[in-house]
Amino acid sequence: MKVLIAGSGIAGLTTALRADALGHDVELIVKGELGGGSTAHAQGGIAGAYGAGDSPALHALDTMHAGDGHGGPLAIATLVDGAAAALDALVSAGVAFDRAADGSIARGLEAAHSRPRIAHAGGDATGRAISHALVARLRASEVRVRERAFAADLLIDEGRVRGIRLVSGSEIEADAVVLATGGAGRLFAHTTNPPETTGDGIAMALRAGAAVADLEFMQFHPTVLAVGTPFLISEAVRGAGAVLRDAGGRRFMVDEHPDAELAPRDIVARAVARRADEQGSPVVLDATILGAPELAHRFPTIDAELRRRGLDWSRQPVPVSPAAHYLMGGVVTDVDGRASLPGLWAVGETARTGVHGANRLASNSLLEGAVFGARLAEALEAPRAFESLTLLGSASRCSNSSDSKKAGRFSRHALQQLMWERVGLLRDDEGLTDAVRTLHAWEAPSPRTSAEQEDANLLVVARAMASAALERTESLGAHFRLSPALIGAA
Ligand SMILES: Cc1cc2nc3c(=O)[nH]c(=O)nc-3n(C[C@H](O)[C@H](O)[C@H](O)COP(=O)(O)OP(=O)(O)OC[C@H]3O[C@@H](n4cnc5c(N)ncnc54)[C@H](O)[C@@H]3O)c2cc1C
Repeated sequence: MKVLIAGSGIAGLTTALRADALGHDVELIVKGELGGGSTAHAQGGIAGAYGAGDSPALHALDTMHAGDGHGGPLAIATLVDGAAAALDALVSAGVAFDRAADGSIARGLEAAHSRPRIAHAGGDATGRAISHALVARLRASEVRVRERAFAADLLIDEGRVRGIRLVSGSEIEADAVVLATGGAGRLFAHTTNPPETTGDGIAMALRAGAAVADLEFMQFHPTVLAVGTPFLISEAVRGAGAVLRDAGGRRFMVDEHPDAELAPRDIVARAVARRADEQGSPVVLDATILGAPELAHRFPTIDAELRRRGLDWSRQPVPVSPAAHYLMGGVVTDVDGRASLPGLWAVGETARTGVHGANRLASNSLLEGAVFGARLAEALEAPRAFESLTLLGSASRCSNSSDSKKAGRFSRHALQQLMWERVGLLRDDEGLTDAVRTLHAWEAPSPRTSAEQEDANLLVVARAMASAALERTESLGAHFRLSPALIGAA
C-alpha cells in the first residue's frame, strides 16, 4: 500500500518506520527539514507506568482527571496500556533514556501525576534524543523522504482522500494519507511552539470537511521565561522541588490547590496569570533550593539557555509567565488513527484521539505519538469504516465566510495578538464574540507562497477555535470562561 505521511515529529516518524517495517511503500514529506516540529523541543520526558508501585490503571486515572473527565476511556486505556511497548520500541530505536543506579529507566515526577513515571533522556533533552534516534532510523530505512515539501491541501476524489497537493503545485497520490503535522501554538502571540506549528494539517482537514473537534481546548504552559524570546522551563523543574513565588516572596500556589505548584497545568497557569496581573509584574520560579550542580546535571538544556541569557537560576529566581503550549483538539480519529474521510488518517498533536480530554497530562503527548503512530501503521492493512465516534467535544467546521464589517487588515501578527487577548487562557463572552466577528471579517489570504499558506491555515484554525470556545459556555479544563464577577478580578 502506498502511504503518504506529512510530518516528521515523533508521530510521523513512528508511523513511517512501522509502516516501512510492515512492507508498505512509504513516503514522508516535511515542510522544513527532518527533525523539525515540537518533538525535538520536548524537555520533560515521556510518561509510562512501567515501574514498581505504578500501574496503567493509575496512569489512566491521572490522565482522565487532568482532562477534567472529558477524555475518552477507550483512547486513554489504549494510551496507557501501550506505554511499555512504546518505550521498548524507542529503546530499540536507540534512545538512551537516563538510568537509575540499578540500571532501570529512571522515573521523574511531573504535575498531576500521582507517581513518578516520566522517562527522560539527557536530563531535559528527551525530545532531541528521540528525534535524533528516529531520524537516524528513518535515513537507514526504505522510506522515501522529501524535505521542503509543504502540504497545502488534500486531494479528494469521489469522497475519498487520494493524496496531497503541495504548495509548489505538484501532487502526490497515495492509498493512505497520514496527517502528522503537529499542533497550532503559532495561533498565539506567546507560545512555546516552534515556527512550523501553524495548524496546517487541521486546516487541511477542515477545508476537506473531515471531522475536527475540541479546538477550544488549548493548553497554556505556566512557566515560560518572561524575558526575551519565550523559553519553556519544564514542569519537571517543579517536580524536582522548585516553587513559584509572588513579588512578596510568597508561595501563592499553596493557597490555590492542595498540590500547590504540582496542580494541573491549567490551574497553575491561571493562578500565575492572575497574580502577575494583580502585582503588575511576572511571578518568579524559584529553583535555588536545588543548587547549581543539581540544576546543571538534571536540566542541562535549560541551565545552558538561562546562563546564555545571563540568568543564574541557582542563585536568583527567574520571571515566568504562561504561553500557548499544546492543542488537545484536532482531527477526530478512532484509536487506530482513522479520520472521518476514507483514506485519511491523523496522528500526534494533529489528531484528536480523546486521550487528553480538556487538558493534557504532562508528558502524555510524546507517548501519544509513539503509541498511536505504531497502531496506525498496524491498522493500515485492515481498513474498516470510520466508526462514528461519540464526539464529546464540539465539532468544528471550516468557515470561509467573511463578515461585511471591516475589522482592520489581516496580518499574522494581528491574528496572534487577537487570539492571545481574546481566546487566551482567561476567556469571556464579549471577547470571544469580538474575536469571532473580527476573524470572519478578515479576508483569507490567497496562498501562493509557504508563508501565505501558513497565514491562510492560521486563519481557518483560528476561526474554528474561537467559534468552538464561544459555543462552549461553561468552563472545562483548559477552556476557562470568566464569570461576570471574576472579570474585574482577573
Ligand atoms: C517546548 C516544548 C516542550 C515540550 N515538552 C514535552 C514533554 O516533555 N513531554 C511531552 O510528552 N510533550 C512535550 N511537548 C509536546 C510534544 O513535544 C508535542 O506534542 C509532540 O512532540 C508533537 O509531535 P508530533 O509528531 O505530533 O508533531 P511535531 O513534533 O510538531 O512535528 C510536526 C511535523 O510536521 C511538519 N509539518 C507541519 N506542517 C506541515 C506541512 N504543511 N507540510 C509538511 N510538513 C509539515 C513539521 O515540519 C514537523 O516535521 C513539548 C512541546 C514543546 C513545544
